Amino acid sequence: EAKALGRNRCRFFAAGMQEQARARMSLGAGLRAAIEGDRFRVVFQPQYRLEAGRLVGAEALVRWHDPELGDVSPSRFIPAAEEAGLIVSINDIVMAKVLAQIALWRMRGLEPPRISINVAAQQLREPGFVDQLCRRLEQQGVPAGAICLELTEGTLLEDIDGTARMFERLARQGIAVSIDDFGTGYSSLSYLSRLPVHELKVDQSFVQGIAGEAGKRSIIVAIVEMAHALGIEVLAEGIETESQLAFLKERHCEMGQGYLFHRPLVVEEFEKLIPPARAWSRPEIVL
Ligand code: C2E
Ligand code: MG
Ligand code: MG
Ligand code: MG
Repeated sequence: EAKALGRNRCRFFAAGMQEQARARMSLGAGLRAAIEGDRFRVVFQPQYRLEAGRLVGAEALVRWHDPELGDVSPSRFIPAAEEAGLIVSINDIVMAKVLAQIALWRMRGLEPPRISINVAAQQLREPGFVDQLCRRLEQQGVPAGAICLELTEGTLLEDIDGTARMFERLARQGIAVSIDDFGTGYSSLSYLSRLPVHELKVDQSFVQGIAGEAGKRSIIVAIVEMAHALGIEVLAEGIETESQLAFLKERHCEMGQGYLFHRPLVVEEFEKLIPPARAWSRPEIVL
């Protein structure tokens, strides 16, 4: 009897694995079709300077709507894309869309705030990454200061010297770097001090623990103090409540984004928030 049970369990397990593999494969096939069919869109989540309440940036986030699967969350399809070797293509598409959008805004006389773009580890490991990025910026007529690259802590740890060299090249080109989901990885103080980093993004799990968990509050305080000691600014992600915002302001966290301000917005909604820079920056002629 026990043997039969074991066999059943085994079969059940194998079926589950098969199903998972199938799901991953169909996601991979769907992603390939989405790349071919230009089915990715980019949304923009506004970022604010907390003290002044001023718009200072936005994070570009990819969206995928599949005719069969519906809307698929990036937290599901980005890992699948990494596994299928498609992440570089997808991020290239996102990068191209963001740069084209910035160029379009500028052509229309809008001065968009700095746009942060998520970069995957595999993309960074491409040898020509920085050169290609610079070429694209030039082709689109977009200044380096118009974008910021978001890298996760995990991306950095693999090759410290290589990472340091790449960050220095980005810094020389004027491209800002932000460390995403900070606090969830293992970056050390000495490690961070070796890299020209412009911003740390406190992971939303800490922000969401502000009300209930003293430990999470302590981690936020420690991150802010450490960052400031190194001359790095801090942006908190996933701010949902007024009390989270109040705590972050009190602890001198400079910037934030989250549903309290705005959800990620489609381009038409986001651009309504951009002030018409040219209109007021033109000097008045007084006779
Ligand atoms: P992330 O870079 O840490 O992005 C923040 C995520 O938190 C986004 O989810 C955003 O919609 C969500 N979020 C923002 N504010 C709030 C809030 O107040 N509360 C809550 N609960 N969530 C909030 P999204 O868009 O689903 O993206 C998930 C992850 O997928 C991103 O995490 C990023 O790691 C990855 N991702 C998204 N777009 C791209 C991309 O173009 N390239 C790459 N490589 N990864 C991307
Ligand atoms: Mg991000
Ligand atoms: Mg993040
Ligand atoms: Mg995150």
